[in-house]
Amino acid sequence: MTASKFHKKPSARKKHRATRPKPRELRERFFSKVAQDGDCLIWLGTTNGEGYGRAYIGTRRVYAHRLAWILAGKPLAKGKELHHAVCRNTLCVNAAHLRVISKAQHARIHAEENRRLVCPHGHSLTDPANVIVRVSREGWVRHNCRECKRISDRRVYLAKAA
Ligand SMILES: [Zn+2]
Ligand SMILES: [Zn+2]
Ligand SMILES: [Zn+2]
Repeated sequence: MTASKFHKKPSARKKHRATRPKPRELRERFFSKVAQDGDCLIWLGTTNGEGYGRAYIGTRRVYAHRLAWILAGKPLAKGKELHHAVCRNTLCVNAAHLRVISKAQHARIHAEENRRLVCPHGHSLTDPANVIVRVSREGWVRHNCRECKRISDRRVYLAKAA
């Protein structure tokens, strides 16, 4: 082998690697942090503290469910958001459970759900012992379900222990 063979168009190859990781590597790394739970694919990696998974494309931080959507080859216009319309499980990264939605629509849906008396999984949100009150960076008050948090924490613990 000659040196020239190795050094063919080095700048172009280097640039490609630096800006975006190979799709296959990205996919493998992503799905190594996912466990199946019924129809849902649960994100076992880190979260943003508000119940959404956090993933990386290279060094760029993205929502795990957004990356799942991109990996599924589905289009996502700038400014649009993805809502867990099917399962309401914000840690789910099954693209089939997501729907594209506007930011305003999304805020309205979650605000309405936050006023309900039970969480999407039917646990009480009127029992103060089961409610975790959170204020998001945008200033929304959210009433999170402690039982749902316990279930998702347990899942992460089991994944780590496995
Ligand atoms: Zn799901
Ligand atoms: Zn949503
Ligand atoms: Zn719940």
